[in-house]
Amino acid sequence: MTGTFTDPTPTPLALLLLGHQADSQSERGVECPGDLPPASDPDLVARARKAKAQLGDRVFILGHHYQRDEVIQFADVTGDSFKLAQKAAAQPQAEFIVFCGVHFMAESADILTADSQKVILPDLAAGCSMADMAEISQVEQCWADLTAAGVAETTIPITYMNSTAAIKAFTGRNGGSVCTSSNAKVSLEWAFAQGEKVLFLPDQHLGRNTAVRELGLSLDDCIVYNPNRPNGGLTVEQIQQAKVILWKGHCSVHGRFTPECVDEVRAKVPGITVIVHPECSYEVVEKADQVGSTEKIIAAIDAAPAGSAWAIGTELNLVKRLALAHPDKEIVYLDKTVCFCSTMNRIDLPHLVWSLEQLTAGQTVNQISVDPETSEWARVALDRMLALPGVSPAVD
Ligand code: SF4
Repeated sequence: MTGTFTDPTPTPLALLLLGHQADSQSERGVECPGDLPPASDPDLVARARKAKAQLGDRVFILGHHYQRDEVIQFADVTGDSFKLAQKAAAQPQAEFIVFCGVHFMAESADILTADSQKVILPDLAAGCSMADMAEISQVEQCWADLTAAGVAETTIPITYMNSTAAIKAFTGRNGGSVCTSSNAKVSLEWAFAQGEKVLFLPDQHLGRNTAVRELGLSLDDCIVYNPNRPNGGLTVEQIQQAKVILWKGHCSVHGRFTPECVDEVRAKVPGITVIVHPECSYEVVEKADQVGSTEKIIAAIDAAPAGSAWAIGTELNLVKRLALAHPDKEIVYLDKTVCFCSTMNRIDLPHLVWSLEQLTAGQTVNQISVDPETSEWARVALDRMLALPGVSPAVD
């Protein structure tokens, strides 16, 4: 089986999610203001090439690792969300930054780029279900609950990059920092040097995995604040005793991997190395051989010897591309069923063609613009992350 990729069988549910139906949890409910070219148009690739060539240096296209192949082929650079935002900031000549990712990523690019640059999200329905799990009004209520419990003053908020600009701004205003999956450990260490507790937003799994596995805290030191229940579903005593208050949010893609997936792949391919993203649950990460960000997963596969076998627990588009790039290794997807980031995959070739052609016609469409005050405080939280030891602001 070496050199082949085990493609999971699509399920009806997964195929439904890959369509364009409304999803109240993640849909931003905005239709593109114009006619999209049909997906069946055989000239879509040629049209995208032509529009991109016409725009020249005026446009810079960013492609997230989880994006579709049909879109990623037009990306000037690929990467994770923070790397892409940094890359955008390093392109001052580009009038338009077309972000083939999701809404919060485009917001971060807008925060980090010059005011004169316009960030475009080809489909405004491309939101992140995890980011949508933390509304700013809910987080303000949580902070009020922590204040009532007498602990807000000694609690440092840390928000994962995968959060809205409003949540990043909340974090900046309240003495906290942004983190990525690569620097969550150093962010938490910094936070505990500033205060006694951490409020970790919005991914409970990254927060728990980092606190317990990397900082040596116990599972009992962590509690989960449920924004849909009074006082987060917690007693005042629980809030006062906890060291880490985890927001009840998760990634719908990485949340699909289970400990049984790890057992099954090990039984099927003896000696296989299992590598997973830290957005997976604690139980999955504990069973895996390695854990790391998308960039770390890519580096691990690149460095692996020929003939080695790997099961990868992250988004399927990235895993498929890794398998294609490494025909000398056996790359297996960790889950049996399709596990695309359905919201990010709403950006398809018709949306990319449409947005590029609109720009060539002088129409700025689907611009993502963060208001100045939110942007200023979000920038404070991002700058705190960049000032952490070992976190480089350099764009590679
Ligand atoms: S993979 Fe998960 S965290 Fe990443 S954009 Fe998709 S839903 Fe959000």
